Amino acid sequence: MAVLIFIIGAIFGSFFLVIGTRLPKGEDVLFSRSKCDSCGHTLKWYNLIPIFSFIIQRGKCGYCHKKIAIEHFWVEIATGSLFLLTYLYFPIGYNFFVGLIISSLLIIIFVSDFKYMIILDSPLIISGTLIIILKSIYFDLKTTLISIASGVGLFLVMCTLFFLGKLLFKKEALGGGDIKLSFIIGLILDFKLGLTALILSSFVALPYAVASLEIKKNNEFPYGPFLAGSLFIVFYHYDKFNMLLDFLFTF
Ligand SMILES: [Zn+2]
Repeated sequence: MAVLIFIIGAIFGSFFLVIGTRLPKGEDVLFSRSKCDSCGHTLKWYNLIPIFSFIIQRGKCGYCHKKIAIEHFWVEIATGSLFLLTYLYFPIGYNFFVGLIISSLLIIIFVSDFKYMIILDSPLIISGTLIIILKSIYFDLKTTLISIASGVGLFLVMCTLFFLGKLLFKKEALGGGDIKLSFIIGLILDFKLGLTALILSSFVALPYAVASLEIKKNNEFPYGPFLAGSLFIVFYHYDKFNMLLDFLFTF
C-alpha cells in the first residue's frame, strides 16, 4: 500500500509540474500531449513513467539526447514522498485526504511561485471546493460554516496587511495569490491556528528574504511556498500547535 501511494504521488507530481509550468504561460494542460522541451517530439507513454523513465534514459531525451530538466525527477520524488508521509501520518479519513490536498498545493505553488512569481487560481478553487465537500461529509454543518468564516476572516487579515503595506511602504508587499491562499489556510486550520500559520510563515521566510536581499539584491521573493509550507507544518502537528495556543492563552 505504501509503495502504491508513493507511485500515485509521483504520477500526480509529474502532472503538478505540468500545471505549475504550463498553466502560467496559458498553455493547455489537460488535452495537449507531452512533448520534449528541446526537440518538440511527442513523448510516448514509456517516456512518461515518473522517476523510472528519467533514470532509464539517464536524464536525456530519447529522441534528441538533450538533457531533460532535473526538476521533473525532483518534483516526482517530492510529491511521492509527501503522499507517502501523509499515508504514514494519518489513517485513511478526513486528515488523510486534506493532507493529500495540502501536499498537492504545496508542490504546485512551489513550482509556479518560484518560477513565475504567481499562485494560480484554479488549484486554489479546486482545493477549496474539495475541502468544503470533505468538511461537510465528515463534520456537521456548523463546523463547516465556522471553517468557511475562518477562511474569510484570515482573507480579511491578509487584505488589511496588504493595504497597510501599501500605505506604509508605497508598494505591494503581498501578492493577490497570497491573500487568496490565506482563505484556504483559514478554511483548513480555522481562525486561531490559521493565524498561527501566517505568523509562522513570516519566521520561516525571513532567512530566505534576508539572503535574497543580500545576495541577489532583490527584495521581491515568492511568499506562497512559505505560506503553504507553514500550512503543512501546522496541519501535520495540529495537536502540538493547539497545546501551544492553549498554553499561551491561559495567562
Ligand atoms: Zn528531445
